[in-house]
Amino acid sequence: MSNSNQQSVESVCILGATGSIGTNTLDVIRRHPDKYRVFALTANRNLEQLKLQCREFEPDYAVMPDSELAQELESFIAYKKLNTQVLHGADSLEFVASHETVDTVMAAIVGAAGLLPTLAAAEAGKKVLLANKEALVMSGALFMDAVKSHGATLLPIDSEHNAIFQCLPEHFVEQGIEHCGVHNIVLTGSGGPFLKKDLSEFAAITPDEACAHPNWDMGRKISVDSATMMNKGLELIEACWLFDVMPQQVEVVLHPQSIIHSMVRYNDGSVLAQMGNPDMRTPIAHALAFPERIDAGVAPLDFMEISQLTFDRPSKERYPCLALASQVMKQGGNAPARLNAANEVAVEAFLNEQIAFTQIAQVIQQTLTSTEYAEALNLESVLAADKEAREFAQHLVQQTPFNRN
Ligand code: NAD
Ligand code: MG
Repeated sequence: MSNSNQQSVESVCILGATGSIGTNTLDVIRRHPDKYRVFALTANRNLEQLKLQCREFEPDYAVMPDSELAQELESFIAYKKLNTQVLHGADSLEFVASHETVDTVMAAIVGAAGLLPTLAAAEAGKKVLLANKEALVMSGALFMDAVKSHGATLLPIDSEHNAIFQCLPEHFVEQGIEHCGVHNIVLTGSGGPFLKKDLSEFAAITPDEACAHPNWDMGRKISVDSATMMNKGLELIEACWLFDVMPQQVEVVLHPQSIIHSMVRYNDGSVLAQMGNPDMRTPIAHALAFPERIDAGVAPLDFMEISQLTFDRPSKERYPCLALASQVMKQGGNAPARLNAANEVAVEAFLNEQIAFTQIAQVIQQTLTSTEYAEALNLESVLAADKEAREFAQHLVQQTPFNRN
């Protein structure tokens, strides 16, 4: 017999708790202690932030891959007499992501490092809130098959995909969007900080300029991806997998205000859009509470303040990375994994001032042409493609003269 008065508290594991998505997730959870409890928090190197989070949320587990950092965290936890167990080492992320006590896993690690624990959550049949788009870009069909065959629930956190999800009827998951009268998907993107910058000045762009996004406050890697629009490219691939569409069915539209987070165009002429202030707590709260709605702490959208919504076509010259991503999705196989790996290496090199902004696309392009196409048949072949492309791109970065002119 069900007891409608008895509310169940969801147990949440946050992979990448100290990042931009991780801290926004904790901000939403903080508002709803009756609905969510934190089972595990994980971080890469930000010890001080994780200490504060452990103190506030007292999770069952806290994970840091590095053993020395984990030891420091352990001393802090003992000193504060917290009831938290500290884990480190290779399998600890997968352990907490697939633990039987966990209901929901927020996948918010940046880059390929998030693939294995996110996959482990899917294979354990969890509710997976996917922010870590790189994991899906790399593993594509493999990841979607794991979700299906293990009965996991996949909810998109990326604001665009969360918007599309909200604009689709619920039965799209079972029936496919072709049976829902959908014409195509319209993926919006702000165009980043260099929408109007003269192309002749692109080579001189600095990491801090690239990370200063006009509308969103995000981690440095995704901020650079937004500036090159590789982010939109990765999102195009992400949309193809999440909604089972071809790249040709996804139209990318520039929308500098970031108020419409994406749209679905239907065969009857209707276009449904999801709108809101650019604040990641909206998609996070939507996915956490789905199918219910909870307060996210986000200010109501003020239409008088916005005053106008504008749209434009992305230029190929300004955003070469977008075309590269579209090409690799059409190629399929291990091409998206190689693109993602080369991009991670190139962005890191740009952030470390080893290559110029304009050299990011060049490193990716050369890596794609110089590494081998193969079917992405299983996890081993995906990881092998990632490794090969990463090594090749690294080699290129070391060879490339730094050219900011
Ligand atoms: P971030 O850099 O702010 O945070 C990354 C988190 O991952 C941190 O907690 C860090 O400790 C952890 N991490 C990094 N490397 C790791 C490793 N090797 N092993 C284990 N943990 C590691 O990044 P973010 O902006 O929060 O983005 C996280 C993910 O969400 C990315 O995939 C990004 O594309 C996606 N996303 C972010 C936003 C946003 O607004 N920030 C929006 C949409 C999607
Ligand atoms: Mg996005």
